[in-house]
Amino acid sequence: MSNKIKKLAVLTSGGDSPGMNAAIRSVVRTCSYHNIQCLGVFRGYEGLIDGDFEELTARSVKGIINKGGTFLKSARSNRFRTEEGRKEAYQKLLDVEADGLVVIGGDGSFTGAMIFNQEFGFPVMGIPGTIDNDIYGTTHTLGFDTALNTVVDAIDKIRDTASSHNRLFFIEVMGRDVGHIALNTGIAGGAEEILIPEENLGLDRLVESLNKSRKSGKSSSIVVVAEGDKIGKNIFELKDYVDQNMEGYDVRVSVLGHMQRGGAPSCFDRVLASRMGVKAVESLLKGETNYMVGLLNGKMELTPIEKAIKGKTKINLELLRVSDIMST
Ligand code: ATP
Repeated sequence: MSNKIKKLAVLTSGGDSPGMNAAIRSVVRTCSYHNIQCLGVFRGYEGLIDGDFEELTARSVKGIINKGGTFLKSARSNRFRTEEGRKEAYQKLLDVEADGLVVIGGDGSFTGAMIFNQEFGFPVMGIPGTIDNDIYGTTHTLGFDTALNTVVDAIDKIRDTASSHNRLFFIEVMGRDVGHIALNTGIAGGAEEILIPEENLGLDRLVESLNKSRKSGKSSSIVVVAEGDKIGKNIFELKDYVDQNMEGYDVRVSVLGHMQRGGAPSCFDRVLASRMGVKAVESLLKGETNYMVGLLNGKMELTPIEKAIKGKTKINLELLRVSDIMST
């Protein structure tokens, strides 16, 4: 491996997700393994501009692999959106003699990293950390698997009360632009219907389908709705519509919200984070820059950051079909 790089910086940016701590730990320990220094940057790009750095050693990251959130803290930074702010950040990295930057975050964070690289030629590497799984170039983003487990656990609990009272529950899960969380947890939680932004079922079809389930003998119904679904303006209006157009059910709404972003990362996310950290550091050491690491066909692969930002993830059509068959 190249010995040009002597010191790397790592930061977490944008929305937090389970597995970010495990990824920081992996970056730090991979640096330590290759005898290079690692600086933790607090508060994402805000901390980069302020020079809020702390040297991290293999021992500084003990006991965090199982913790949700990010101990480096995350932030949104308007200053980093300006050339002046990015110049300041670059100067801060030069001051501490850092030679590369690992950015753990979502597509906004990657856009910032790509622009920073284009402006100053500073080596950057991205690790996709977001529960939405909406980044091209990886089948799984960090935190997605944990969020799925959290949501399925919640659906199971809501099902208990739904079936005790003949209730129809609309459960809103995260996913502004993509329905990955809704589709997977809907199948795993045995939902009668799954509403996702990629598909517009139509209100009449929804009521028809719920009536059909009721006639087939179901005593409760669960509809999992991605927050970005287009069928109703919001989940409460959806509830009102169904209340007015369907008889026999007590209709309730449950918005799961930020609980989906927290909690201890699953085994899958801990392993993924560990693999991504190793790949990110070793790629920078090999002289690669402006890439995102991702899981493709079971292997760690690099995708140019620009492609990761611009590419669209697609909903799995086979899963859609499975969900249709399961709800009969
Ligand atoms: P999430 O998917 O959870 O929203 P994200 O990484 O997409 O995570 P954003 O808030 O979009 O979160 O971006 C995080 C930060 O990245 C912003 O606060 C900003 O500092 C930086 N950033 C985003 N877009 C740009 C841009 N066009 N130019 C420079 N910096 C940017």
